Amino acid sequence: MATVEITGAEEVSWNLSDLYEGGDDPRLESDIAEAEAAADAFRERYYTRVAELTPGELAEAIDERERIESIFTRAIYFAHLWFSTDMADAPRGALLARLTEKGAGLDTKLLFFGLELAALEDEKAEALLADEALSRWWHWLHTVRKFRPYLLTEPEEKILTEKTVSGSSAWDRLFDELTGAIRVDLDGTEVGFEEAMAKLYSGDRDERRRAADAVTNALELGLRTRAFIFNTIVLDKSIDDRLRGYPTWLSARNLSNDTTDEAVQALIDAVVHRFDVAQRYYRLKARLLELDRLAHYDRMAPIGDDPVRVSWDEARDVVLGAYHDFSSESGDIVERFFTESWIDAPPRDNKRTGAFCATNVPGVHPYVFLNYTGDRRSVLTLAHELGHALHGYVAMPLGLFNANTPLTTAETASVFGEALTFKRLLASERDPRRKLNLLAGRIEDSIATVFRQIAMNRFEDAVHTVRRGEGELSLEKLEELWLDAQTRLFGDSVDLDGYGTWWSYIPHFIGSPGYVYAYSYGFLFALSIFRKYELEGDAIVEPYLDLLRAGGSKPPQELAEMVGLDLTDPAIWESGIDALAVQLDEAEALASQIGLG
Ligand SMILES: [Zn+2]
Repeated sequence: MATVEITGAEEVSWNLSDLYEGGDDPRLESDIAEAEAAADAFRERYYTRVAELTPGELAEAIDERERIESIFTRAIYFAHLWFSTDMADAPRGALLARLTEKGAGLDTKLLFFGLELAALEDEKAEALLADEALSRWWHWLHTVRKFRPYLLTEPEEKILTEKTVSGSSAWDRLFDELTGAIRVDLDGTEVGFEEAMAKLYSGDRDERRRAADAVTNALELGLRTRAFIFNTIVLDKSIDDRLRGYPTWLSARNLSNDTTDEAVQALIDAVVHRFDVAQRYYRLKARLLELDRLAHYDRMAPIGDDPVRVSWDEARDVVLGAYHDFSSESGDIVERFFTESWIDAPPRDNKRTGAFCATNVPGVHPYVFLNYTGDRRSVLTLAHELGHALHGYVAMPLGLFNANTPLTTAETASVFGEALTFKRLLASERDPRRKLNLLAGRIEDSIATVFRQIAMNRFEDAVHTVRRGEGELSLEKLEELWLDAQTRLFGDSVDLDGYGTWWSYIPHFIGSPGYVYAYSYGFLFALSIFRKYELEGDAIVEPYLDLLRAGGSKPPQELAEMVGLDLTDPAIWESGIDALAVQLDEAEALASQIGLG
């Protein structure tokens, strides 16, 4: 890699031997064989018999189901982690491909268990759920059974499932292939879509404008086809929802997110009501860039150089300091990730890009994957992934099924840890210009997560509603609805000229309808806990850690209650937004202080 600076993270690599000694570890093959044999035995023993099980027998069956999944998850996690640090190594790719296929086979073999549980008569299920023997599996059973009111008969389910492959999945794949093939003519050179989009982060306005024009041109090609795919997916979903009896287009998504239509509506209302925060920020950004008004391609522009470089050791100290300050227990846990080689830090050739935390590695601790570059954003990324790590670590004793969190609460500890660390970074920065840069970067990330995702949700809502009422949407109608939703977000703070077709590359609309609001939900949930911590101090520490220890064993509403919050009360969302508005106040004050505002 050409431009990697020395950060001191170069030698920080993880030790996967807590999982397996390597790809040729004989335990790996014996685990895979054990998972397969146990799955066969499980099917042999329980297929078509789930309804006859006593509470004790059912508890035993779920224990065994979890044991099988844990063994296999450990193997496939190893394959993933091993592959992600050297994607060019053939044996690593081969192991991952082999295990992915085996995983699909195992799923198919074991699918009956969930279906038979969902098919249990309510009366029978109530009796089971009330039984002491199944108390550990109460939430898990609830989760499996919550789709029951919307399930069709078994032959109907089978037809729908099989037809997905040639229906929505096929359209989704076609969309991915079409967007993957988009080439952008950038000043006479053909570049990939991602490369062109990356130019929107350039400090040179002319370069950003040329890139945006080139992207708009590139999106024209095949636009009608992508609009047709979108229409088809939306129609397909409306048929599914009608057959199953879901009350709204978003209900199925809310159910799988373990939340309610009411809580999500409260979130959406609260965010839409405060779109002015985004508008205020973009007006400030225009002043900082010395522009009358931002064009849509200026939104990501840097507002000045950030020459600050943070070495790995400094980053570790800042992040550890933040976690230790919060609570010594969380500080001690996070510290183990450094001292026991559970982190892979530096960018390397053939390493995957980005960052993640492998949270629920059964029987082992989480692992953290980074591409640490030494800018201040990568310090926050470190804090973010260590939040996931802390969450996974303290929830581990619950076992795989109960530790696993839905999308809506999965980001709690990560966003919280990031907020702790950001506060520390900000407090240690004395130079007002650099302080402003730091704040602006943070506010921009927050706007992208909170406001932009809800604006996208409003677009989706309009598309699904119009499709159900008026039929197929023309290109013009799609553009109109997209610009409506964006205009509500930006007001007159951003010029949207040329932006009308930019809905047409976003994969979530096609592959996971209704998905995008969860980003905002998780972020604001975590921020409102953080806000409570700022107001109430140490009183929140133990309840918060208890919330993390509960993993996914309770629904989000009950988790929120553990820290004294109510997800159906709009105030929870408003307080997260207030925290953002406070940062914006501070940024505006700094800007006028240094004569930029
Ligand atoms: Zn995350």
